[in-house]
Amino acid sequence: MCRAARPGVTARGSTLGPVPGVFDIVATEGFEQVVYCHDAGTGLQAIIAIHSTALGPSLGGTRFYPYGTEADALVDVCRLARGMTYKHAVCGNDLGGGKAVIIGDPATRRSEALLRAYGRFVEGLSGRYLTAEDVGTTQADMDLIRRETAHVTGVSESLGGSGDPSPATAWGVLWAMKAVAERLWGTSSLAGRHVCISGVGKVGAALAQHLADEGTKLTVADVRPDAVDTLVEHLGAVRVAPDAAHTVPCDIFSPCALGAVLNATTIPELRCEAVVGSANNQLASAADAERLRHRSVIYAPDFVANAGGVINIAEEPHGYDRARAYDRIRTIHDTLLRVFDRADADGITTAAAADRLAEERIASVSHTRLIHTGHRTGAQL
Ligand code: NAD
Repeated sequence: MCRAARPGVTARGSTLGPVPGVFDIVATEGFEQVVYCHDAGTGLQAIIAIHSTALGPSLGGTRFYPYGTEADALVDVCRLARGMTYKHAVCGNDLGGGKAVIIGDPATRRSEALLRAYGRFVEGLSGRYLTAEDVGTTQADMDLIRRETAHVTGVSESLGGSGDPSPATAWGVLWAMKAVAERLWGTSSLAGRHVCISGVGKVGAALAQHLADEGTKLTVADVRPDAVDTLVEHLGAVRVAPDAAHTVPCDIFSPCALGAVLNATTIPELRCEAVVGSANNQLASAADAERLRHRSVIYAPDFVANAGGVINIAEEPHGYDRARAYDRIRTIHDTLLRVFDRADADGITTAAAADRLAEERIASVSHTRLIHTGHRTGAQL
């Protein structure tokens, strides 16, 4: 069963309770389609949210998570799908914003049948939504979904995919830092600069390696001591406790772990000139962008700095070519300089400037779709 959501409707077979006013959420934010997916055989309960296809088919990952209520899942998938619209738009992808959630604990609910059932629902959207890996899902899951639909990215390289996006994301964060360096110090070189990375997992560790290659001084933090040990030993990084990472005097603070690290408590404690990292939703609230501006800390909006992964994935439908993808990821540097210029020109925060650039691209490019390309030419009309 698969149907568009209606107000006040409870998904059949749901044990999660009623959904209050679905249209309150989707209509006010201009969502194109929200699809509830239920498969009795596997117990699959999923929601796919398509925020916008104005620039192209929607693309965003599938989060597999044990949401407490169905409303929590709906709010999360909508928030994430809307974020993808902005991310694709600002980084120049011909893609729209979409996202999906599978409700449940992946540790106990993951199965071939459930993922393939989910793949059938993605297939049912006929390419309006392309899925990818996200929190709780893996490349192996994408390979299973691929057996039911071609509308999936991030599959194994052996299946023609681009594999794990983390190295591409790290490459994009590096180029975002170079844009910041150019802006602050008049050179894109990071040699001799000091960067403090909080969270040295897949993205943070790859970023640390790039920075070490550039001759950057590194301080690193992680709740996993072994992750830090490796970088201390191999890259000469200095260790700092996770809860003190944002207070380290340095040139760039790089949040590469959790969201909401920039807030009313941490921002006054920053001792850096700029914040550039991969973590999603780094600002705890919109007011925090203003707080950073007041402190003259340059903030590289997270959805611009961490777009390397989606730029990489966007290359898959064209036949993945790593060199071409990595060249495109470098354009994050130019995009970010445009964001900074716009923020200065309009007297707004860099976060607001990035939103404006995304909205303007959506408005101007989607307008060209009104141009008829069918048989009835202007001369005939
Ligand atoms: P990861 O799970 O591999 O790494 C995260 C690291 O942060 C882990 O090593 C973890 O131990 C550490 N960590 C957790 N809590 C911490 C804390 N309080 N302080 C310091 N370290 C802590 O994840 P990842 O794929 O490297 O992604 C990192 C961030 O970037 C996430 O916010 C993710 O959503 C975002 N992001 C990742 C990608 C990608 O391609 N992987 C793309 C876009 C955005």
